[in-house]
Amino acid sequence: MKVKLKNVYYCDCCGKHTLTKFSIINHESHCTLNPNRTCRVCNNKDKACPMCKFSELQLKLKAGEIEHIMYDLQTEMKKYWAKKYDYEEVY
Ligand SMILES: [Zn+2]
Ligand SMILES: [Zn+2]
Repeated sequence: MKVKLKNVYYCDCCGKHTLTKFSIINHESHCTLNPNRTCRVCNNKDKACPMCKFSELQLKLKAGEIEHIMYDLQTEMKKYWAKKYDYEEVY
């Protein structure tokens, strides 16, 4: 019988865990529960970014400022990309 001990890496912000250090480092920098995150979608450059909005809501929920998140991230992301494409076609 082989017994292997493995390190489990946890995200400091949301508790997500994996066995690969790299993927959790990568996750942590974008984690929506990390107040100092770098946005994977807009690089913290776009105030209209749904991912940033969602992160804001998650942090509020964590802080107890709100009770639920009424936000459909997937739909909002779709709208966001649709708008972006329009923008790029016109200009
Ligand atoms: Zn996380
Ligand atoms: Zn963003």
